[in-house]
Amino acid sequence: KIHEVENTCLFCRILGGEIPATVVHRTETTLAFRDIDPKAPSHVLVIPVAHHANVIELAADPAAAADVLATAAKVAELEGLTDGFRVIFNTGEHGGQEVHHVHAHVVGGAPLGPMLA
Ligand code: 5GP
Ligand code: ZN
Repeated sequence: KIHEVENTCLFCRILGGEIPATVVHRTETTLAFRDIDPKAPSHVLVIPVAHHANVIELAADPAAAADVLATAAKVAELEGLTDGFRVIFNTGEHGGQEVHHVHAHVVGGAPLGPMLA
């Protein structure tokens, strides 16, 4: 079952090096890479190496959740987002989640307005 998800999940395939990505930062438990369709001057996705479908599943793995947040903070530093940024977990249908391997969007580099469209 775990191997099934690794074969079919887009972000597990990026983790496996099967699909190329522009890596910003990597730790033992997380990967940060540039969004293929950036919605802001800086738009990086942070994922746990362990496959969790969404932020609810991630919350049940507190160590992984903390690692994802720490990597998001590191990305903000590496990207020079000293004027601020947003960390977003789109979740479910209403949240517009399209890839079902949890990912934090780290977006910034310009004023973002009241909501990320
Ligand atoms: P979601 O809507 O699930 O929160 O966000 C999925 C994000 O993944 C989107 O912003 C989309 O542009 C990005 N994305 C989709 N496919 C790929 C891909 O193959 N490579 C990269 N780097 N990003 C992707
Ligand atoms: Zn996955």
